[in-house]
Amino acid sequence: MAVAQQIAAGEQIISSGTLPWQADSWNRLCASLASNRLAHAVLLSAPKGMGKRHFAEEAAALLLCSQPIDNEGGGKRACGNCKQCHLLAAGSHPDLRTLVPEDSRVIKIDQVRRLGEFCVRSPQVAGRKVAIVDSADRLNLNAANALLKTLEEPVEDVQLLLLHHAGEPVLPTIRSRCQALRLALPSMEAGLAWLSEQEHEATGVDIQTALTRARGAPLVALELLNNGQVAAGDECLESLRLFLRGERQVVEAVAPFVKLGVEPSLDLLGHWAFDAMKLALDESTDSARVAGTADGNAAPSVTRAREMFAFLAKNNPADRFVILLDQVTQARRAQTYNINPELMLTDILLSWKALMPRRRRAVTARMN
Ligand SMILES: [Zn+2]
Repeated sequence: MAVAQQIAAGEQIISSGTLPWQADSWNRLCASLASNRLAHAVLLSAPKGMGKRHFAEEAAALLLCSQPIDNEGGGKRACGNCKQCHLLAAGSHPDLRTLVPEDSRVIKIDQVRRLGEFCVRSPQVAGRKVAIVDSADRLNLNAANALLKTLEEPVEDVQLLLLHHAGEPVLPTIRSRCQALRLALPSMEAGLAWLSEQEHEATGVDIQTALTRARGAPLVALELLNNGQVAAGDECLESLRLFLRGERQVVEAVAPFVKLGVEPSLDLLGHWAFDAMKLALDESTDSARVAGTADGNAAPSVTRAREMFAFLAKNNPADRFVILLDQVTQARRAQTYNINPELMLTDILLSWKALMPRRRRAVTARMN
């Protein structure tokens, strides 16, 4: 399995180097470390699909390695050969702890207490200890308060790396005790270049569609390509278009969404509502970026959908799309109650249909 695929699958890789778009953040981290200005806790923020965990594991490797070497893109990196690096590669380094949510969606207080005990003990084999918290937005309130204690009473030889899914809330008291480090999204060109080098069978147009649907996050785009979700997404888009034109009944229209699955369908519907809202707010918004393409090189279904969003945006005020976005958020929450996914998705499609102007015949003619 290629490294990128392993990262996308959440597998631990030590010392394979950081990802291309992480170079600036990596150099900042190395510069702080070299000048002894690295705070004992770092809050690493980035959207999903940017490889935060991988970055943190690379940083942990560097911090534990006994003879770091020069990194190609600048700064230092773990050597991969010393005793510390071997222990890390075997997944059994006693001076590294990683906190992830246990059997639920949150990190609990007992986990943080055990981490606190780890922090005050002396390192066993390395010069320091490293703790990764994945992630700070998954701490429940008690766990967050327990972690504050560790943050407020820094221990000399421990480095905390807190990950943060950008946009999710983190207690301000935690945030203020950490040095902030962000991973910036790569440019569209850089993202496309990286995706083209990865293992998948997709063509250029699909790669572009995947990256746009992933909102520029390369690892999310790679997952879409590997799961065959780009073609399935195109089918959904075409189905919505035919439904709006009155050429498909709602029962038939919802089928590709049900087949795709609730989560990815809600992602798509949310993205489309957001894109249409932007178009409604600002007519100069580049409609080419909407619906998954950045130039005229798009799949025909995508081009037709792009016209459809532009048409809806022209005929509706932006707040209608805000309501649609809100409906998607509500639908995500409702999943907890096991609501029938087909009914939920049908409701959302009907809300899209309500955005069509009344004089449908004249309208569909113009949409052709
Ligand atoms: Zn080493």
